[in-house]
Amino acid sequence: MGTKEIILVTGGSGLVGQAIRSVTEDSNTNEAYQNYSFYFASSKDADLSQLEQTRKLFERVQPSYVIHLAAMVGGLFRNLKYNLEFLRTNLAINDNVLLMAKEFKVKKCVSCLSTCIFPDKTTYPIDETMVHLGPPHNSNFGYSHAKRMIDVLNHAYSDHFKSTVNVGEKVPLFTSVIPTNVYGAYDNFNLEDSHVIPGLIFKAYQAAHDAKEKGIEHAKLNVFGTGRPRRQFIYSKDLARLILWTLTDYEEVEPIILSVGEEDEISIGEAAQLVADAFTQETSIKIELEYDQSFSDGQFKKTASNFKLRQYLPKFEFTPIEIGIRETVRWVIANYDSIR
Ligand code: GDP
Repeated sequence: MGTKEIILVTGGSGLVGQAIRSVTEDSNTNEAYQNYSFYFASSKDADLSQLEQTRKLFERVQPSYVIHLAAMVGGLFRNLKYNLEFLRTNLAINDNVLLMAKEFKVKKCVSCLSTCIFPDKTTYPIDETMVHLGPPHNSNFGYSHAKRMIDVLNHAYSDHFKSTVNVGEKVPLFTSVIPTNVYGAYDNFNLEDSHVIPGLIFKAYQAAHDAKEKGIEHAKLNVFGTGRPRRQFIYSKDLARLILWTLTDYEEVEPIILSVGEEDEISIGEAAQLVADAFTQETSIKIELEYDQSFSDGQFKKTASNFKLRQYLPKFEFTPIEIGIRETVRWVIANYDSIR
C-alpha cells in the first residue's frame, strides 16, 4: 500500500465516470489497473469552478494522473437556454483543473471534449484537425467554445512544459479525447437536461408504466423533431475502455476522436425504434413512435471519422447499439427510483 499511483477522475459520478469505475472494477478487465488507485470526484467533493476548492481537492487526492470529465453538460434544449452559463462555468472548471494538474505535477491529464464543438459549416467526415476551423453550431456555442479552449490550453501547457522541464525528466502530457454521443447507465435521464437516448428511455419508461397502470398493451413514444438527424452513438463502457487506453498509451497532445465508424451512424428515428423495441422486449408493452415537429432538430449530422483511432486500435470491438440500449433500458428499469 501507499505505492499505488492515483488517478483522479473529475465528473466521477456521471455517465462516463461511472462507466470507468465499472470497467476498472470488472474482474475480467481490471488486471491492467491493479497498479493504480482511482479517486472518482463528484460535485460533493468540490465545486471545480472555484479555484480554491479545486486546489483543496488536489491537495487531498495527490493524483499522478487526471481524467477530466467534469463539465456543465446537457442536451440540445438545455444548451439553447443557458449558453452564457455553459461558457463561463466550463471555462472556469477547465482552467482550474488544468492549472492544478500542472501545479501538482500530474504526469498525464486526459480531458473530455465532444463532437458538438466542431464547426457547424464543415465537410464530412469531421476529423481531429478541424476543431478550430470555424464557428460551432449556434445552439451550443457557449459549451463548444469552452471545450475548444481545453485544446488551446493543452498546447500552451505543452509548450510551457517543454521549455521548463529538467533534462532527463519526462515531459507531462495534457491531451484530450472527443467522443461522439455517449449513452449508458448513470446518465441524466430527466427530460430537461437529457440527451436524446436517455430522454427517449425516460419517456418510453413512463409511457410503458402508464399503459400498465391502465391495463392496456400499447403506448406511444414521443420523439422530438423529425427523427431524421443522424448521430454516432458510443456506449459508455466502450468509451471508458478507450479513455483508459488514452491514459496509458496515447502520447499526442492533439485530440483523438473516440467513436464508432461512419458506417455505424444512425438516424434519431432508428435510435428511437431501438429504445421502443427494448421496452417491448422488457415489458411486453408495444411501443409506437410519434414525432413532435414543434421541437428543434438541432444539427442535422456531425459525422466523425474514427480513422485515427483505428490506426492505433484496429481491432477494438464496439458494443452493438441494440445491446447497449437493451442493457441501459434494463438498468433504468432496475434503478428507476434513483436515476437523475
Ligand atoms: P445533440 O446531439 O448535441 O444535438 O443533442 P441531443 O442528444 O439532445 O440530440 C438531439 C436530437 O435528438 C435532435 O434532433 C432532437 O430533436 C432529437 N430528439 C428526439 N427526442 C429527443 C428527446 O427526448 N430528448 C432530446 N434531447 N433530443 C431528442
